[in-house]
Amino acid sequence: MDLKCPTCHNPLEQVGTHAHCNVCDTDIEVQANCPECHQPLEVLKACGAVDFFCQHGHGLISKKRVEFTLR
Ligand SMILES: [Zn+2]
Ligand SMILES: [Zn+2]
Repeated sequence: MDLKCPTCHNPLEQVGTHAHCNVCDTDIEVQANCPECHQPLEVLKACGAVDFFCQHGHGLISKKRVEFTLR
């Protein structure tokens, strides 16, 4: 996770499907992408847990492997 805040360029903290900037105290929307095909992942939310699913044949993607990009 090496996304930077578009406003202050501080490194962002990943929180679930959002990124948080501690400097601006703002939540920033991020896009989860498949590490294999780089297509947007479907986000499955269940009981507080978040799973990421690739609809292009790569199945469930562990959160550690998800590529996050700013929208
Ligand atoms: Zn910021
Ligand atoms: Zn994929």
